[in-house]
Amino acid sequence: MSYLNITEVESAVTSLATAFPAQCELIELPEPSVEGRTGHALRIGTAPAGTNDSVVLIGGVHAREWGSCEILVHLAADLLEAHSTGSGLGYGGTSFTAAQVGSILDNLDVVVFPLVNPDGRHYSQTVEPMWRKNRNPANSGGSPACVGVDINRNFDFLFDFTTAFDPTAGPRVSTDPCDVQVYEGPSAFSEPETRNVRWLLDTFPRTRWFVDVHSYSEDILFVWGDDENQSLDPDKNFLNSAYDGKRGVAGDLAYAEYIPKGDADSAVLLAERFCHALHGVRGRTYTPMSAFHLYPTSGTSDDYAFSRHFVDPAKSKVLAFTVEWGTDFHPPWQEMKRIILDVDAGLVQFCLTTQE
Ligand SMILES: [Zn+2]
Repeated sequence: MSYLNITEVESAVTSLATAFPAQCELIELPEPSVEGRTGHALRIGTAPAGTNDSVVLIGGVHAREWGSCEILVHLAADLLEAHSTGSGLGYGGTSFTAAQVGSILDNLDVVVFPLVNPDGRHYSQTVEPMWRKNRNPANSGGSPACVGVDINRNFDFLFDFTTAFDPTAGPRVSTDPCDVQVYEGPSAFSEPETRNVRWLLDTFPRTRWFVDVHSYSEDILFVWGDDENQSLDPDKNFLNSAYDGKRGVAGDLAYAEYIPKGDADSAVLLAERFCHALHGVRGRTYTPMSAFHLYPTSGTSDDYAFSRHFVDPAKSKVLAFTVEWGTDFHPPWQEMKRIILDVDAGLVQFCLTTQE
């Protein structure tokens, strides 16, 4: 056993849907990847779709962060097998009862999409291990070195970062297609892989929580990513053009991104519970913090997911997170197996905490 290739990720997802028809539904994503691959997600939950609130979990956005797919495939398998046999779940020193597993599947929809960027993963696993972006050649000018868009800068949140941010802020994003790390693409949602994630949020309008699984740094990040959080001045928000050119500077008074106090408290609680359960497995310490404290960003999935409600109050409010597992993009498989247990314990606890 080692890391799954893209065919194996897909077959794991479809096999789970076949094996556990009472507990899950196979979801085909509407848009093939740039190279024509169709992806699948699972809606895990015993109630009919639309009955319960949803947690959306995605992975494999960044090609080289291989273990994210395995973390989500194993989580899905664990929840489905435990529910079908009426058993609990054990992850090292952290365990969950059968009743807790039942409460997740009976009271929530857990939507799991383990492989957002199949073309990138395939390229990373067969050609260039450190590849991060998708494989779109449209903006490359024919140069192989300039292929690809960073899916996690392609969402519609402060996409025009040169206008939104202070010129000295230096957000980790680029308009240069030849930037091999963080090219944002020609426009927000220019990439089919990004549009598939938006489609999941649109298709499950009762989504209230979102987690994007990445590596690495042993953190769980909560919104926002463009500046520090503040809950005192609602006018200082990403929609207010009066603050263009002021965002993204740490420690200043000019701007900090508004988050309602209740949302900030809920985000911290969910992140702390994730870390506590994860620590119980074998003692790894993950740090809960706002995404900005890693570095300033625009166009990320978590900021986009949370921003939707503020752009359109008719949409549900989605508290959004990014997990950064591990200390290495490609840990030896024996270590990756332990990381899977760590993070899955954290994610099971995250789902339970949503029910409090
Ligand atoms: Zn990543």
